Amino acid sequence: MKYRRVALIGLGLIASSMAHAMRAKGLAGEIVGHAKSAETRAVARELFCDRVCETAAEAVKGADLVVLCVPVGAMEAIAAEIGPHLAPGATVTDVGSVKQAVVDAVAPHLPESVHFIPGHPMAGTEYSGPRSGFATLFQNRWWLLTPPEGVDPEALSRLRGLIESMGAKVDSMNVAHHDLVVAVVSHVPHAIAYTMVGVADHMRRVSQSEVIKYSAAGFRDFTRIAASDPTMWRDVFLTNKDAVLDILGRFGEELSTLQRAIRMGDGDHLHAYFTRTRAIRRGIIEAGQDTAAPDFGRAVEGAEGG
Ligand code: NAP
Repeated sequence: MKYRRVALIGLGLIASSMAHAMRAKGLAGEIVGHAKSAETRAVARELFCDRVCETAAEAVKGADLVVLCVPVGAMEAIAAEIGPHLAPGATVTDVGSVKQAVVDAVAPHLPESVHFIPGHPMAGTEYSGPRSGFATLFQNRWWLLTPPEGVDPEALSRLRGLIESMGAKVDSMNVAHHDLVVAVVSHVPHAIAYTMVGVADHMRRVSQSEVIKYSAAGFRDFTRIAASDPTMWRDVFLTNKDAVLDILGRFGEELSTLQRAIRMGDGDHLHAYFTRTRAIRRGIIEAGQDTAAPDFGRAVEGAEGG
């Protein structure tokens, strides 16, 4: 057992996956939860929490680990509520997709007697809510921590131990670097998917149902990403604004270069560019971050190419 009592605040995809993983491996003596709605609390009680509380303040009492699993925009109010009720010596972490905004929102409300170690599991699906979690979500995925300077080494290694026991690989970095890295690997790709689906939605009104009918040809993968939770992603873009705008600016420049190569019929440029990008895909597979199976391992029957 890594912690005696773990309090999960917010009981959606990430929290329920953590609870399933902790239960499967016996990592927590007791899992206590709180979420906003009575409906979510009831599902959590039935599926993965030993106890649920009507308030976050009640849920964190006596916990030696508190994990904030709410959308980034809800972190500050939760931190203000739980601050006075945290047990001295407890570790507080979070799973928010943006780190600077969470540190700014949460740290001022925590007493000095607790260890605050922000975190971000680089794992997810397009599903959300308390029924969407599963024990293997973090298997072989990165979980980034952004420990503040002077953090208690024992608290850090204990949290690291829990995360590794749930199957994830842990890396530490500073907050600003984290926010830039995730803008490149996650936030801007989501912005592009949202935009592409938006363009196609507009086209659909022009060409009727063809966009849906032929969607296997690449577009389908954009729709999966663009189906992600609207509240979570609204908060991500509002709170990682600088890094996202920086990377979107670079994206715009690259797109203009590509557009120009197409317009000028510059096949050499296109071929060299696509050769470089293909090597990146190979690197991701070699690093074990995705499957090498064609079309992400989808059933071949009925598959269409692109
Ligand atoms: P989710 O499935 O939508 O669940 C969010 C949970 O937060 C729900 O249980 C919701 O309660 C609760 N909540 C929202 N506002 C609250 C409040 N004011 N007080 C108490 N509970 C509140 O979200 P998720 O995907 O697990 O994401 C949670 C966090 O993980 C976010 O910060 C997100 O940025 C981060 N994250 C997500 C992913 C991903 O791919 N999904 C990956 C890595 C990190 P109700 O159900 O009652 O509304």
